[in-house]
Amino acid sequence: ITAIRGSVRESAIGKTKTTDKADRATAERAIDHKTRMILYKMLNKGAFRDISGCISTGKEANVYHATQSQGQPLAVKIYKTSVLEFKDRARFMQGDFRFKNGYCKHTKTMVEIWAKKERGNLMRLKAAGIRCPTPYLLRLNVLVMEFIGKYGCAAPRLKDAALSLDKLREGYVEIIIAMRTLYQKCKLVHGDLSEYNILYYEGHLYIIDVSQAVEHEHPHALDFLREDCVHVSDFFKKHGVAVMTIRELFDFIVD
Ligand code: ADP
Ligand code: MN
Repeated sequence: ITAIRGSVRESAIGKTKTTDKADRATAERAIDHKTRMILYKMLNKGAFRDISGCISTGKEANVYHATQSQGQPLAVKIYKTSVLEFKDRARFMQGDFRFKNGYCKHTKTMVEIWAKKERGNLMRLKAAGIRCPTPYLLRLNVLVMEFIGKYGCAAPRLKDAALSLDKLREGYVEIIIAMRTLYQKCKLVHGDLSEYNILYYEGHLYIIDVSQAVEHEHPHALDFLREDCVHVSDFFKKHGVAVMTIRELFDFIVD
């Protein structure tokens, strides 16, 4: 227990490069009591033997690297419990029938709902054969999932992957097919798809960060889809790939 307390604190403080990030990590280092208890319980149940580093500190969640008893890596995404940070998410929630009964009913907090949504959406992606982390364990605001990467080294985001033009062309085809599958099979629109939420690992693209993904029946689903198309197209176009027009891509996905 001391080990986890120490490592969680240290990892949140250390390994950050920019001042901005360091400040944020420092402010964030105190994982709240409830979250800490969840981590203790997971540790005691043998879900992992330690949490050994911070992969990312974001506005809404931190992602940590953990190690299973046999040494295999895990990713642990901890949603921040400060509800205020989730204000801009209202637009995703309104119109999503999964939230019809509101979030007060079962005394689940907003972040707990986002964590649960992320797991549910990841499961849908998996079932449809889309590359993404496999979710393993969910407890309130803590989601334990498959670590995408090797030897404790997280796979780079597409933005940072520095791919050759050939690899980029392959990646473009792979991601637009995944976007179509996501829409057609999972009946979902990602809503925040870009080079920031795609990881490049072993020659393939992995979609992450799906907590805000919406049902394709959401009243703004097609607006979100168009934004996703623009972000994905812009990235590949900027790097020299001959891409479809937004209209063509959009039609390819929905038709
Ligand atoms: P947010 O953007 O809301 O902070 P993300 O789910 O996008 O949360 O995760 C933040 C970062 O953590 C990602 O950009 C990625 O670098 C890393 N990451 C997230 N999930 C995994 C995973 N399963 N394996 C490896 N790295 C991950
Ligand atoms: Mn993200």
